[in-house]
Amino acid sequence: MILGILKEPSQETRVSLHPEAVKVLTGSGNQVLIEAGAGDSSFLSDTVYQQAGAVVKSRAEVLESAEMIFQINPLGAEDQKKLGRGKYLIGVYQPLVARDLMKTLAETGVTLFSMDSIPRITRAQSMDVLSSMSTVSGYKAVLLAAANLPRFFPMLMTAAGTIAPAKVLVIGAGVAGLQAIATAKRLGAVVEAFDTRPSVKEQVESLGGKFVEVPGAVEDKGAGGYAVEQSEEYKQKQSEMLEKSIIKSDVVITTALIPGKKAPILITKSMLEKMKPGAVVVDLAAANGGNCEGTENNKTVTLSDVTIIGNSALPSSMPEDASKMYSKNVQNLLKLLLKEDKINLNFEDEIIKGTCITHDGAVIYEPLLK
Ligand code: NAD
Repeated sequence: MILGILKEPSQETRVSLHPEAVKVLTGSGNQVLIEAGAGDSSFLSDTVYQQAGAVVKSRAEVLESAEMIFQINPLGAEDQKKLGRGKYLIGVYQPLVARDLMKTLAETGVTLFSMDSIPRITRAQSMDVLSSMSTVSGYKAVLLAAANLPRFFPMLMTAAGTIAPAKVLVIGAGVAGLQAIATAKRLGAVVEAFDTRPSVKEQVESLGGKFVEVPGAVEDKGAGGYAVEQSEEYKQKQSEMLEKSIIKSDVVITTALIPGKKAPILITKSMLEKMKPGAVVVDLAAANGGNCEGTENNKTVTLSDVTIIGNSALPSSMPEDASKMYSKNVQNLLKLLLKEDKINLNFEDEIIKGTCITHDGAVIYEPLLK
């Protein structure tokens, strides 16, 4: 099979397939084409790709010749004209948000796999780009907070006096939140965390964090481990209890998301006014509306002397490892999709079925057919 790696749009620094993956894929009989300069922003030169077995081509040539095309970000309108039946496309498409684009892509005849739709099941963990990119975001969120905080993170006992450790609160203890807890602990902060899923208490504690308990949360075991909307009564109680932790914290990292819904507002303007001057909020839910009133997506703003960071492109700030992890996720999916150098589309496999969005001229992704 001819595989083609495209250069990402200018704001993106990651690349979809790493030279290590290229080596494996060419080794099993595939031909890999790469658009010139595709790995540059991840510090992976054309020469490194050539040494791994790839052939460097122009974008037009890759789009023309490749049967399977890799680009993390959705293809633009011009590129879409080069798609057709018999071509496969692998990227991150957010099909539930970009419904019209899914119809357009289906009309081209392309078979699209959207990496963010990989089912959250144990067998698919090694393909889960939401988890790997959340790991990067959770880690980087803490480093950004530390860099913007006018204080130390660790406790210091120096000749110039004793410095108390920073207090960090992490709201939402999913993949990003747990990584944030671990990173903040490593930097020496005192960490508290809260989640509406009481079952994460043990995970928070195993990382050295203190779990903030708000009794009465509803946890739906049928929701695939995701959070569900809580009652108004619970939200009121949660808000009152969280406020106590928020106003004594130096840093708050928020990651609270409910699939298919706008992110819940957990830090209100009135709470911001009561926070310590110089405190930092890193809102990892910024792209979904934010968990903090006043968050602006991809901007840093200051409200009531609190710095609010709404950077939702944190994986792009660490392109070397983020590309390596994304590529490994794709490579693991390819183990199911390719038999040596031939496509093996087995729709009986729930991972393939759950990740394939368009095929044979139609949208086939079940959540879009309801
Ligand atoms: P997410 O990004 O959807 O949400 C982040 C966290 O915010 C979640 O822990 C959620 O419970 C929490 N949250 C939602 N509303 C909140 C509120 N109002 N207040 C406080 N917290 C709130 O979550 P995620 O990181 O994608 O993980 C979701 C689940 O999926 C977890 O149970 C995780 O273990 C599971 N998971 C499974 C796999 C797999 O098996 N392949 C992979 C990754 C994650």
